[in-house]
Amino acid sequence: MVDPAECTIKVMCRFRPLNKSEVERGDKYIPKFTGEDQVSISGKPFMFDRVFGSNTTQEQMYKASAQKIVKDVLDGYNGTIFAFGQTSSGKTHTMEVSYFEIYLDRIKDLLDGMYCSTVSNKMGCTERFVCSPDEVMDTIDEGKSNRHVAVTNMNEHSSRSHSIFQINVKQENTATEQKLSGKLYLVDLAGSEKVGKTGAEGAVLEEAKNINKSLSALGNVISALAEGSTYVPYRDSKMTRILQDSLGGNCRTTMVICASPSAYNEAETKSTLMFGQRAK
Ligand code: ADP
Ligand code: MG
Repeated sequence: MVDPAECTIKVMCRFRPLNKSEVERGDKYIPKFTGEDQVSISGKPFMFDRVFGSNTTQEQMYKASAQKIVKDVLDGYNGTIFAFGQTSSGKTHTMEVSYFEIYLDRIKDLLDGMYCSTVSNKMGCTERFVCSPDEVMDTIDEGKSNRHVAVTNMNEHSSRSHSIFQINVKQENTATEQKLSGKLYLVDLAGSEKVGKTGAEGAVLEEAKNINKSLSALGNVISALAEGSTYVPYRDSKMTRILQDSLGGNCRTTMVICASPSAYNEAETKSTLMFGQRAK
């Protein structure tokens, strides 16, 4: 039996520490943690299922946001974990995985560098059969080195594509012949920053618009699910179509909203947190 309370979408929020250049510039540290589930930015409160401050360890983060989903996937449920936030906010640090990307709404299979033209249940992407954690990590590293990255005016290289890592777990109890299968998607989203800040032009601007479009389609799906609405606009973007059978229903979904604590990023941080609130 599925406990209805477990079907809700969980939204967590994590602030990374100030980075070297923010410290050197003397940026103010702006989040005020006013409870386990609340953070204030310049007096404006934001509520989440959990809020994590800058010294949260990876293990604490895993335990609070992923452990339960991973366990449920082993019990035969489907689940998705997203990382959302502007470039350099800690998405990849939180997720550390990438496998294939959706770039300009095309799907590129990073494991053999080919574009796939169709999306169906079988996505046509490379499937690897893995039996050990080491094999999973090798597969991730292979995909990572192929990931599309464009340089923007942000501090570092900005990830301009969504990366989705899918894990299928199939189990069979040889004594009872009982079969269980569950699916887990780990989604490291493209940077959510507004175009203006990165000073983008031409092709880069088109790319940024495309990213904003797919992120808002995702936001619409998540808020429709959170509101329990009967119509969920899965078909509005390639990503939400791919994730359809792992979002909503009796699936487990966690969104980790990643944010910078620096006053320099205040406007971006507020809009990031607003995106997360829509799912509540
Ligand atoms: P994003 O994927 O959102 O662009 P990254 O995950 O690459 O951002 O993080 C940017 C930088 O900040 C990286 O060098 C990363 O190691 C560091 N960082 C991010 N989050 C944390 C954290 N919670 N604690 C320590 N360092 C972090
Ligand atoms: Mg990243």
